[in-house]
Amino acid sequence: MLEASLKEECGVCGVFGHRDAGHLVYLGLTSLQHRGQESAGIVSWNGRMNRHAGMGLVFDVFKKENLQTLRGHAAIGHVRYSTHGSSVIKNAQPLLVSTPYGQVAVGHNGNFTNAEILKKKLELGGAIYQTTTDTEIILHLIAKSKKNNLPEAILHSLKRVEGAYSLLFACDRDSHNKPGSMMIAVRDPYGFRPLVLGRLGSSWVVASETCAFDLIGAKTEREIEPGEMIIIENNRNYKSVRLAERPTRSSMCIFEFIYFARPDSKIFGKSVYEVRRELGRQLAREAPPPPNIHSVIAVPDSSVVAALGYAEQARLPFEIGFIRSHYVGRTFIEPSKPMRDFRARIKYNPIRESLKGKSVVLIDDSIVRGTTSRKLIRMLRDAGVNQIHMRISSPPIVGSCYYGIDTPTTSELIASSHSVKQIRDFIGVDSLSYLSIEGMLRAAKGSTNQYCVSCFSGKYLTKIYQEESGKQS
Ligand code: 5GP
Ligand code: MG
Repeated sequence: MLEASLKEECGVCGVFGHRDAGHLVYLGLTSLQHRGQESAGIVSWNGRMNRHAGMGLVFDVFKKENLQTLRGHAAIGHVRYSTHGSSVIKNAQPLLVSTPYGQVAVGHNGNFTNAEILKKKLELGGAIYQTTTDTEIILHLIAKSKKNNLPEAILHSLKRVEGAYSLLFACDRDSHNKPGSMMIAVRDPYGFRPLVLGRLGSSWVVASETCAFDLIGAKTEREIEPGEMIIIENNRNYKSVRLAERPTRSSMCIFEFIYFARPDSKIFGKSVYEVRRELGRQLAREAPPPPNIHSVIAVPDSSVVAALGYAEQARLPFEIGFIRSHYVGRTFIEPSKPMRDFRARIKYNPIRESLKGKSVVLIDDSIVRGTTSRKLIRMLRDAGVNQIHMRISSPPIVGSCYYGIDTPTTSELIASSHSVKQIRDFIGVDSLSYLSIEGMLRAAKGSTNQYCVSCFSGKYLTKIYQEESGKQS
């Protein structure tokens, strides 16, 4: 089943031309941890390729002895989170295989929307799958491609792939297919997911977000553009190649700004912090607070920046309403329902002293299933809060994401089947308002010609293939 097996959230990081490449990638991955907490892996190369991957957080997966094996002047790494079924070690990335172009490793952020169809075709042609990831498909396509070298094989293979991909490849041969070393970064023609190129002294660095650069002291060179492939073979320069297709529009995921990316990152050429704060201001313009509100509070951490923007615009004090435990993962992350329920409580606790008898505006960045919100509201009521006016710094999520954000199936999204009034009653607030799609785009200073808003509009840019039937919608 497409929705059940292939959805994942991820982050990638690579370093080329540095004697501590493996260690630097390890550090970079820790700052991309928010993009995936289920598994982590690194491939480094020093003539031969070394790989270590495991389940869990970056700090748990890599011990001193593992890092010592990750020698070499170059390394790529990956953090991953996926839904049911595929939460197993064999799916941890980077994947590493032998191909006609030498040893090739790949880490992928995104989602191939035609994965199931390609997979079946390849299976009929004799392919045997080692994992249940869509990422493995690209390796099969490469292995079969009969080209002169890896960059050509990648270009050729990507012609058959639809959807979202920011990919990072490692190879123990050069672009002449001779023993050597090469790192390749590619972003899909629509640029759904971010990918940034940086410089650390004379070394090259690639990462999903610039916060990884800050940690290792690298400087941002530039965004890797939608539809661009960057081939790095030495410390001096890189080669940039366009993928054949060049659409007239891009489709960068606006949800990266709303929730997913870290506020200290710059992605899609913009500061996540500034966009997120503006989302909050815009929300206050569209859905101002009722009279007699004492304070604006946030659901930490993801909505704090938007709440600051809202409070600023509404001229209300921002208060801390909840303390979030940082020693448990994100609630949403836990695949089974009973665990998720339990986790909301261990993750958030209201501060009674700041809330008792008060009327508040509560900001959250999004409502997905509505179950976390409902529990948080109950906690606020128990803490003696008078009125709760909830404001959401994104529009209602009405459609599942097929491009690399792990939203649940459409039927599980509360806004796909409930009106705002019904959601208000379900979560138990005195009033509820969402940001408009237009307001959201204004805050991100762009239009639907630049940003993907599919989860808010229910309209998809690429074909979405339905489950087993292979039907298109
Ligand atoms: P709900 O009330 O819908 O159960 O949960 C809403 C919360 O889920 C919000 O606080 C939001 O920050 C968080 N959230 C929204 N989208 C995602 C996502 O794609 N992944 C994770 N891990 N959390 C999300
Ligand atoms: Mg949140």
